[in-house]
Order: sequence, then C-alpha cells, then structure tokens
Amino acid sequence: MQGFNKYYPPDYDDAKHKSLNAYRGKHALGDRARKLDQGILITRFELPFNIWCGTCNAHIGMGVRYNAEKKKIGMYYSTPIFSFRCKCHLCSGWFEIQTDPQNTRYVVVSGARRKEEDWDPAENGGFAVIDTDSKTEPADPLAALEKTTDAQTHATKVQAPRLEQLEDLSAYYNDDPYTHSQRARKRFRAEKKVEQAREEADKSLKQKYGLPAELALERADDPVTAAEAREEWARGRAARAGENTSRKRKLALEAPVLPAPPPRRGASASKESAASSLRARILSNSARRTAAGAGGPDVLIPPSSRKGTGGNLAAGIALRKS
Ligand SMILES: [Zn+2]
Repeated sequence: MQGFNKYYPPDYDDAKHKSLNAYRGKHALGDRARKLDQGILITRFELPFNIWCGTCNAHIGMGVRYNAEKKKIGMYYSTPIFSFRCKCHLCSGWFEIQTDPQNTRYVVVSGARRKEEDWDPAENGGFAVIDTDSKTEPADPLAALEKTTDAQTHATKVQAPRLEQLEDLSAYYNDDPYTHSQRARKRFRAEKKVEQAREEADKSLKQKYGLPAELALERADDPVTAAEAREEWARGRAARAGENTSRKRKLALEAPVLPAPPPRRGASASKESAASSLRARILSNSARRTAAGAGGPDVLIPPSSRKGTGGNLAAGIALRKS
C-alpha cells in the first residue's frame, strides 16, 4: 500500500529514501503499477460499444467497466496506439481492444466480437466517405483528370498566361494608388454635383406644384421614360375627349325638347327635322301612357319618375335606351 498520509517514521531519512513511497518500496500508483516492468498499467476501461464475448458468447453491453491492462503497442504518427486487455466478468476469458487513431475509434483485436451498430451512409441513402489518400481505393476521377496531358496543356497554355495578365493588371492598379484615388474622387465629385443639381430641380418642381416631398420623379433626359410619359399623356387626353363627347351627347339627350325649328332647305336639314319630330311623337306617346297608368311591357319606367314633374322626360329616355 502506498503512503496516503504524511506520517514520516522515525527511521525515515530524506537523503536516503527521497520519498515516502520509496521508503515503503511502493509505486505512487500502487497496485495498478504491479506490471509496469512489462509496460502494462492497470486502468479502468469502459466498453465503447456492445460486444459478444468470444469465450462464453455472452452479450456484454456498452459501458461495462473492467480493470484493463493498458499497454502502448505502437505509434500512428505522433499518437500512441494503446491496447486494453480485459477479463470477461462472466467467464474470465480475455479479450483485447485497441485504439485506432487513424479512424478515431476502437477496434476489437481478439477474444470478442463487436456488435456493428455504426451509421452506414451508403445503407441509408447517402454517400460513403471515400479516403482519397488511400492507394487501394479507386482514384478520384477529377483528380485523375487533372493529371492528364490535356489538363497540363490547358494549365500551361491558358491558365498560366491568364494568371500573368491578372498579375500585370494588379500591378498596374497598385502602381500609383494616389493618382488612381485622385482620379476616382474627381469623378465622384463631378457626379455628385450633377446629382445635387437634379435634386434641387426636383425639389423646386415639387414645391411649385405642391407635390409630396417623397414622390420620386422620373428623369427627363431618359428617352424611354419620356416616350412612355408622352404616350400615356396622349392616351389620357383621348380618354378625356371621349368622356367629354359622351357627356355632351347625354346632356343633349336630356335637354328639354324644344319645338321643331322651321324646316330648312337641303337633305340634311329635312332629315334632322324628321328625327326631331319622331322624338317628339315618341315622347308624347309615352307621356300619355304614363298618364293612363299603364306602362307597356317594352317601356321601362323607374317608379320614382311615375309621379312628379320629370316623369315624361325619364319615360322618353327609358324608351330610347331600350
Ligand atoms: Zn465471457
């Protein structure tokens, strides 16, 4: 048993014994270091996966802990590879598990069988990760293509000159940054001046016509926009003119009927007078019917116009419309 306390016996000599453990002839790690001369340290090892014991064939669950003999058995680059020898708690048969630094996992070396429960991408509709460094694996087709003569020719004939061009361009741009900056700032200033003038003009225009300040105005010097605006203006005017004409016609039709003017000479005059006399006749007919209180089935008379002064006129309009 190693010394857990700080009791120094009377015969303890610091110069001779160096430490309490040495005085007692024990290692600091105690009984766990009993096989240290073989390079074995006893550690507590927890099963990283489910296994079947190779001796008794019993299932041993992940997480079961053993006093394992830990031993360094090799190196993967600068990472040591350890092996853990454990004794099955059911049958006392030995099994050995090693670390695998290359694939960051544990492998069962002997005495047991691992229960495979890893996620398999290929099995679940995904793609397996292929180690391109491995010599035995099929080569990456793109990597193989890069090594062909065509690819090398392309690299020397096309890519290298292009890179040189880009380098030249970069050198040109970085040659005299002061001048470039000056030129750029000059251009920005000129553009800013134009922009400010335009903004001022827009503002004054909006104030003049009482337009909202947030209204965005189109640029007058844009030919496309100008043409569009002109077109829309013409369309609007045409619509307005049509509306005016129809309104005038309606007003003319709604106007009270005047006695027919004396007939004039000429075909047009006679036609006009005939039309107006016809209208007068229709109006008088409908007025008579309204007065009798028997609206014909072909005449639509609004109920409001049956009584009142405007009844006759409304009846006339309804008749003409139908
Ligand atoms: Zn066993």
